Amino acid sequence: MTTLTIDIGGTKLAAALVDADLQIRERRELPTPASKTADALREALKALVEPLSSRAKRVAVASTGIIREGSLVAINPQNLGGLMHFPLVQTLEEITGLPALAVNDAQAAGWAEYHAIAGEIRDMVFITVSTGVGGGVVSNGKLLTGTGGLAGHLGHTLADPRGPVCGCGRVGCVEAIASGRGIAAAAQDELAGCDARTIFARAAEGNVQARGLIQHSAQVLARLIADVKAITDCQRVVIGGSVGLAEGYLGQVQHYLAQEPSVYHVELSAAHYRHDAGLLGAALLAHGER
Ligand SMILES: [Zn+2]
Repeated sequence: MTTLTIDIGGTKLAAALVDADLQIRERRELPTPASKTADALREALKALVEPLSSRAKRVAVASTGIIREGSLVAINPQNLGGLMHFPLVQTLEEITGLPALAVNDAQAAGWAEYHAIAGEIRDMVFITVSTGVGGGVVSNGKLLTGTGGLAGHLGHTLADPRGPVCGCGRVGCVEAIASGRGIAAAAQDELAGCDARTIFARAAEGNVQARGLIQHSAQVLARLIADVKAITDCQRVVIGGSVGLAEGYLGQVQHYLAQEPSVYHVELSAAHYRHDAGLLGAALLAHGER
């Protein structure tokens, strides 16, 4: 059965037709509307899915933010502007005439990654390090979403009580320091104003400050992974996202995790589905494979 899957991010909207064998047949992308209003998002979603929806039997949405009872609730108003309570499932059912489900994007990606490695492993945690930091927790073979949709928002755990203010309103979240946005915000002098991609490029050229910023991100992430191990006793942590998958980053996280006591060590691996994990995880959830 073909599923129309949609990935709603802070900068782009993606849609794809996904077959029962988890192959992506067709893919479209549009920028997320700059105005971040409900009307603008509704119109953009309509334009995105209309060429695809007649060939699908159902809709599955992976979105940034908290998904609570089918509605989008932004944890970080900077990411989604005025979309504090957008009725995601209802809107897509109206546009397409198909049954829809919605899930947080990192939770969806975590579920796809769990499927990629399932077998002996029953407890796995996915962490994406990108513009923000998100997570998906699989415990005893089940994806944790939480009654309010907040489960797995690992980027909003505490890294440094004297750290920068996070977009969610807390001080010193992992996301505020380790994410691409956090790395860029800490840059000074010759790197001031650079984005994370540029800082990674400078680090590859040997820039000392750029290397230090990335090392600090990796160190904060390693401490988060030790915490995650203590909370979930997971057998594997899978790392994704544009920062998480950047060359050399996972090796640095491994280096810092190895400095923690051995009880907190856990096998690390890079995301199998790379940047399609959200779309595929949402399709798997729609298939009822949970
Ligand atoms: Zn936060």
